[in-house]
Amino acid sequence: MSASSFHRALKCRECSREYEIAPIFSCEYCFGPLEVAYNYDTIREATTRDSIAAGPKTLWRYANLLPCDPEYRVDLGVGYTPLIRADRLAKAIGLDTLWIKNDTVNPTWSFKDRVVSVAIAKAREFGFEAIACASTGNLANSVAAHAAAAGMECLVFIPDDLEKGKVVGSAIYNPNLVTVRGSYDDVNRLCTELSMQFNWAFVNINVRPFYAEGSRTLGYEIAEQLGWRAPEHIVAPMASGSMYTKIWKGLQEFHQVGLIEEPKTRMSGAQAAGCSPIATAFANNTLNFVPQKPDTIAKSLAIGNPADGYYALKQMQETGGGAEMVTDAEVVEGIKLLAETEGVFAETAGGVTIASLRKMVQSGFIPRHEETVAIISGGGLKTIEAVVDEVAAPLHVQPTVESFVEARSAQQARIAGSPVTA
Ligand SMILES: *Cc1c(COP(=O)(O)O)cnc(C)c1O
Ligand SMILES: [Zn+2]
Repeated sequence: MSASSFHRALKCRECSREYEIAPIFSCEYCFGPLEVAYNYDTIREATTRDSIAAGPKTLWRYANLLPCDPEYRVDLGVGYTPLIRADRLAKAIGLDTLWIKNDTVNPTWSFKDRVVSVAIAKAREFGFEAIACASTGNLANSVAAHAAAAGMECLVFIPDDLEKGKVVGSAIYNPNLVTVRGSYDDVNRLCTELSMQFNWAFVNINVRPFYAEGSRTLGYEIAEQLGWRAPEHIVAPMASGSMYTKIWKGLQEFHQVGLIEEPKTRMSGAQAAGCSPIATAFANNTLNFVPQKPDTIAKSLAIGNPADGYYALKQMQETGGGAEMVTDAEVVEGIKLLAETEGVFAETAGGVTIASLRKMVQSGFIPRHEETVAIISGGGLKTIEAVVDEVAAPLHVQPTVESFVEARSAQQARIAGSPVTA
């Protein structure tokens, strides 16, 4: 059975008009966003728990549900990341059962490898020779790496104030790297104009309908790794809101093709207070967010005008989930808490998720007994700046036993003598 019998069209999310599969992203009639439509009955016949379990230990195990021909894939080994039972963190924040979906271990250390895997396969299937993106950092890293592995021309556009780890994390693959004086929203506007003039596959613009589908694999993996069932609550970070909405789509599809029971998961989103258009709208009980000018250390989430903000807010309503926002200081606490309790070093987006989760448990919005999965979407070595002054200084010694013993007793005396806080 060919891949093309599984996905059949692009469909407008607003007016439901359908379009043939092509590198287009918005409806000609109402300008609504286009989304891939599938033949779920065909997928259902071709897909079982066993057939998936027998597949590769990457997101390509879900190839029947991906809107591209896997023949065109650039396989860096993306996805099927660990779902870690986080008992020490659960105890620290007051939950009975918590899982960490650890997407820091992807090839370029963020969940963006999922969306790029699908986008670049589709771009190659469409015959594009150059791949491009507008990025807050992680997407640029992933696009540059995949393009390098495919031997494709690559253009990545980023704001000029990103962390060193994100800039070098792209530059090392030698793409055409462009830093733009402005915010991500400025970069995105520029790239939308460029996409009309140049025949490049902008993964998150003209190929966005396919790109976005890659995030559904987070939902598939969580369900499979929990033993073919959905959890009671999921907390995910939100920038454009795309990943947050696609995880839920993935869980619903798994039910639709007969792999799990109907999911009842409450879906919650997390943002930094310094860029919180979606969480602010949720707090104000409206589906219409007001764009913001980002000012936060969580640069990977710094999208002031989120493309999927409206759909994210609708999903909170529909699933009984919510949204929380946290200060930059809380983001740092969240990063440290996750590292110290579970041995997972997340970037700022992970700090946003853990700190928001903690607030939702503290407020009672997530009750203690609700089994929860937290999405940790990127690795911490790319955002060292956020924590470099927040970790304990090492004990510095001469290479002798005496020096070590002396320094260590001095350190322990300091700790013993330090004032006890209540
Ligand atoms: C891009 C990104 C997200 C969220 O992206 P969406 O635009 O909401 O899909 C979350 N975490 C990290 C680390 C990211 O790079
Ligand atoms: Zn339409």
